[in-house]
Parts: sequence; C-alpha cells; structure tokens
Amino acid sequence: MIAGSCLCGSIRFELDAPPLFINHCHCSRCRKAAGAAFGSFLHADGRGFRWVSGETDVTLYDCAPLASRAFCRICGSSVLVLEDEGAHVIVPAGCLDDDPGVRPAMHYHVASKAPWFEITDGVPQFAEYPPADFWASLGL
Ligand SMILES: [Zn+2]
Ligand SMILES: [Zn+2]
Repeated sequence: MIAGSCLCGSIRFELDAPPLFINHCHCSRCRKAAGAAFGSFLHADGRGFRWVSGETDVTLYDCAPLASRAFCRICGSSVLVLEDEGAHVIVPAGCLDDDPGVRPAMHYHVASKAPWFEITDGVPQFAEYPPADFWASLGL
C-alpha cells in the first residue's frame, strides 16, 4: 500500500497496486502543471487506486486529448492524472508519502525540456515517447 496526499492534507489516497515505473515528463503541459522543470509520475493500474479523504475537494481539469488532471481545489496540488477513464493512473510522485520502491526509469519529451534545466542523471532520455522496445524492456 502506497499513500499520498495533497499539500493541505484534505485529499488523501491509497494505491494498492504494484507500481509500474516512475517517469520524468518534460512536456510543457507537465512543466506548467507542476510549476517545475518537469513532472515526475508514478504509473500503476487504476483498479488499485482509491481516495481516502477529501474527494469532494478533487477538481478535474480536462487536459485533452490525452488525460484529465486532478488537483486540490484548496491548495492547488496536482494529485492525479487519469488516462483511459481511470484504467491507468498516473500519480504525481511529489504527492507520495511513502517510498513506492520503484525509481525513475526514463525522461521523456526531452525535446520540450525547459532551456534552463540540464539533465545530469544517467536515466535514459527520449526526445518524445520511448519506442516500443524500451517499453518491452520494462515488461510493459
Ligand atoms: Zn489540498
Ligand atoms: Zn508531460
């Protein structure tokens, strides 16, 4: 079980599914949503996700065409990105209160990277999305 919460503590959630991977996304949408150099996200099967408290404070932003982004209406924390109507959940890793066990597996959309940020770790980088053989190497 992995717990997470927003900045003000109203919204709490639990993830009872094996985490798949963490990615760093450098696209402009994730940079803006995070207010940071990139967005860091834990990916998991949506069936293992549940809100524990504060669900009435969850506000959805329709970030078409790919996803909806859920944030706390009180503190503004990004708490969830929903794809495929929730079948796949993407949890902003900064909201996690527990160590998910997995570590970042990739930087993607690096072609959209903020010019003021330099990637200095050894994690694989992709200009856009990783190719199919990379996903296969992760067992996905
Ligand atoms: Zn909050
Ligand atoms: Zn992104």
